[in-house]
Amino acid sequence: MPSDFTPPAAALASIQKGDLCAGCGACAGLFPDQIKMDQTPPGYLRPRQTDALSPQQEATFAAICPALGQKVAPDGRQDPALWGPYTEMMTGHATDPALRHAGASGGGLSALLDHLIKAGVVDAIVQTGASAELPIGNEMVISTTTEAIRVAAGSRYAPSAPLEHLAAQVAEHLESGRRFAFVGKPCDAAALRARCTQDADTAAAFPVILSFFCAGVPSHTGGEAVLAALGTTLAETASFRFRGNGWPGQATAIAHDGTERAMSYHDSWGGILSKHVQHRCKICADGTGVAADIVCADAWESDAAGYPVFEEAPGISLIVARTALGAELIAQARSAGAIETDPFDPEALAAIQPGQRERRRALLARLSALKLAGRPTPRYEGLQLWAAARQNPLTRNLKNFLGMLRRALRPRKTP
Ligand SMILES: Cc1cc2nc3c(=O)[nH]c(=O)nc-3n(C[C@H](O)[C@H](O)[C@H](O)COP(=O)(O)OP(=O)(O)OC[C@H]3O[C@@H](n4cnc5c(N)ncnc54)[C@H](O)[C@@H]3O)c2cc1C
Repeated sequence: MPSDFTPPAAALASIQKGDLCAGCGACAGLFPDQIKMDQTPPGYLRPRQTDALSPQQEATFAAICPALGQKVAPDGRQDPALWGPYTEMMTGHATDPALRHAGASGGGLSALLDHLIKAGVVDAIVQTGASAELPIGNEMVISTTTEAIRVAAGSRYAPSAPLEHLAAQVAEHLESGRRFAFVGKPCDAAALRARCTQDADTAAAFPVILSFFCAGVPSHTGGEAVLAALGTTLAETASFRFRGNGWPGQATAIAHDGTERAMSYHDSWGGILSKHVQHRCKICADGTGVAADIVCADAWESDAAGYPVFEEAPGISLIVARTALGAELIAQARSAGAIETDPFDPEALAAIQPGQRERRRALLARLSALKLAGRPTPRYEGLQLWAAARQNPLTRNLKNFLGMLRRALRPRKTP
C-alpha cells in the first residue's frame, strides 16, 4: 500500500469537510441504490447517501471522484502549463446556421455532436439541457436528433449532474449495444474518463467525451438573482436561457404570458452569476477539460476582464483536439461539411481567456493557504501547478494566498 494511501471513508469525509464536491453526479450514477442527487442551499447539486456503500464501492468511487483530485499525463502531446495536453487547436463554427446561432459560441460542440450521430460513431448524446421543472435549472438529456441537440445548445450557468444515470446508460449499452457521446463540464469529463479507465464496459458505452472551458458553476440563487435583476421571479418564468441565440447572446427570461426580458452576458455572468460560483470551482486545476477528446470554448477578442470587445457577432468556437481520436473526429466533421475551421495560434489563448489564465496561475497559492488552514484540498497530478504559479509575480501569488487564507479561517456559515 503506498504511504500516501487515503482510506476511502476518510476520503469521503474530506469531501464534505473541504466543501469539495463539484456536483457531477458520478457517485449517484455508479451507486443509484445508495446515493441520490439533491438540491441543497444555496442551490447546488449534492449527493445524499441513502444506504451504506461497501468498502469496495467506496474505493471505486474514491478513485474517480473529481472532488478528490485529478490526474493527467501528456503522453507525448504538447502540454502548455495553463491549457493542458492537446494535439491541435483551431477556431471554427457549425455550418448549420441554426446550430451556430443556438450555440454558446460558434455551435462547435453541437455540430460535432450532430456529426457523431449522423456518421454513426455513436447512437445518442448524453448532454445537459434546461430542466422541465426549474427554468433556471438543468437536467441530463439524451439526444438523437439535430433538433434535440439544437434545443440543448448554449451554456447553462447552473448546477448540472450529467453523470447521475451512468449505471443505467452502461446497462443499456450492454443490453442493446447503444453507444453514447458525452458532453459535460471538465469535472464531469474527468470523472467519466477515470471511470472508463476503471471499467471496460463504461469505456465501450462512451467512446467519445467532449467538454468545454469552464469558469465555475453558479448556484440556483445566482439564477434567481438574475431573474430579480430582470424584474421578475421564478414563479413568473416559463423558460430561461443563460446564453446562446447569438454570440455571446443574452440571458433571457420568457414569462408565462410570453413577455421577454433580457440582460447582457457582461451583466448576467460578470455582474451576478460569477459571484455565486461554488468553492470547488475556485480551486479547480482543470477549467479546460483535459480529460476530454475534444473541448470547445469562446474564441472572442476580450477585454482585461474576459468580456468580448464587441456587442454581438456570428459565433466562433475555439476547438481543441486533446487526443488522436478527437483530432480524427474533427477532421471527419470538417470533411463532412459539419464544421468550418481556421488555424489558431495557441500563444493567443492567454490573452483571450484571462479568467482561466488567472485562476490557474493563482491556484498553487490558494491551495497552499487552504492546506495551512487545515482544509482538505483536491490532489492534482500532472496539472503543472508550479509551472503555472511561476507565471505570476510573487506579489499576486501572495495576494491570492492571503485572500484564500482569510476566507478559510473565517467561521463557516451553516446552511
Ligand atoms: C458553467 C460554465 C462555465 C463556462 N466557462 C467558460 C470559460 O471560462 N471560458 C470559455 O471560453 N467558455 C466557457 N464556457 C463554455 C462556453 O460558454 C461554450 O460552451 C463554449 O464556447 C462552446 O460553445 P459551443 O457553441 O461550441 O457549444 P454549444 O454548441 O452551445 O454546446 C454546449 C454544450 O454544453 C452543454 N452544457 C451547457 N451547459 C452545461 C452545464 N451546465 N453542464 C453540462 N453541460 C452543459 C450542452 O448540453 C451543449 O451540448 C462555460 C460554460 C459553462 C456551462
